[in-house]
Amino acid sequence: MHRALEGLLGAGSVLPGETPLYLSDATEGRGLRGRADAVALPETPEQVATVVRWCHDNDVPLVPRGGGTGFAAGAVALDGGVVLSLERLDRVRSFEPLLWRTCVEAGVRTATVRRLAREGGLVFPPDPGAAEQSQIGGNVATNAGGPHAFKYGATGAWVTGVEAVIMPGEVVTVGGPARKDVAGYDLRSLLVGSEGTLGVITAVWLRLLPAPEAFLPVVAFYEDAAPGCAAIETFRLSGRPVGQVTSVSLASA
Ligand SMILES: Cc1cc2nc3c(=O)[nH]c(=O)nc-3n(C[C@H](O)[C@H](O)[C@H](O)COP(=O)(O)OP(=O)(O)OC[C@H]3O[C@@H](n4cnc5c(N)ncnc54)[C@H](O)[C@@H]3O)c2cc1C
Repeated sequence: MHRALEGLLGAGSVLPGETPLYLSDATEGRGLRGRADAVALPETPEQVATVVRWCHDNDVPLVPRGGGTGFAAGAVALDGGVVLSLERLDRVRSFEPLLWRTCVEAGVRTATVRRLAREGGLVFPPDPGAAEQSQIGGNVATNAGGPHAFKYGATGAWVTGVEAVIMPGEVVTVGGPARKDVAGYDLRSLLVGSEGTLGVITAVWLRLLPAPEAFLPVVAFYEDAAPGCAAIETFRLSGRPVGQVTSVSLASA
C-alpha cells in the first residue's frame, strides 16, 4: 500500500502506517490508539483526489485528518487503511480585507486564520480551544464552537463555500466567496459538520467581520450557579451585546 501510494504522490509524501503522530487524537488520554497501513500527505486538492480514488478503487478505508484535536476519535483509523493528513494544504489562496473575506486551504491552522484576519483589521469569530493545533478544515468538518459561539454561532455560520473531494475522487465546489449565494440545494451546510463522511474538505471560503473598537471584559462573582445564571439572563434581556460568557466554579477548599 505504501509503495502504491508513493508511486502516485511521489517520495516523501507517504509515511509508514505505524507513525505514532497520526494514530491518536485528543482521546489519547483515554487510552485510544489506532492502527493504519499508510499515512498520505498530499499537497494539492488533485493529490487528495488521487488518494481518494485509489482508496475507492482498492476498497481501502480512508480517514481524513486535520490537527488531531478532536475528542471523538474521528481522525483515528481504528481498522487499518489510509490516514489522509491535510497538513500540507496550508495555503492562503486569497485575503480580501475590504470585502471581509478569505479563502484558505483546509490545513491552515485555526490560529493562523484568526491572526490573518486580525492583521487586516478584521476578526474571524470562531474560537475553538485548540486553535494553535486544529485546522480550519477540521473546524468545518466538526462545525466547531468555542466561547464566542454564544454570540457569533459555530464555525459553519462563517463558511460561504467549501471545496471538497468526494467519492470516487472528484474535486467539487459548493458555494463560494459570495455571502448571498442561495440558488440550488444548500450542499455547503451538508458538508459542514459531516466529519469526513461525505468528502474530504480541501479549502473553504470564510466571511470575516470588522474588528470591534474595544473589548470590555466584565468579571462578576456569585455564591452559587443560580444567581450567576440569573445575572446573565438579566444582562441578556437588557439588550446589550454579549460576546462570550464563561463560567468558572470555584469549589471551596
Ligand atoms: C484543548 C481543546 C479544546 C477544545 N475546545 C473546543 C471548543 O471550544 N469547541 C469545539 O467545538 N471543539 C473543541 N475542541 C475539539 C477540537 O479542537 C475540534 O473538534 C476541532 O474542530 C477539530 O479540528 P482538527 O483539525 O483537530 O480535526 P481532527 O481532530 O483532526 O478531526 C476531527 C474530525 O474531522 C474530520 N476531518 C478533519 N479534517 C477534515 C477535512 N479537511 N475534511 C474532512 N474531514 C476532516 C476527521 O476525520 C474527524 O472526523 C477542543 C479540543 C481540545 C484538545
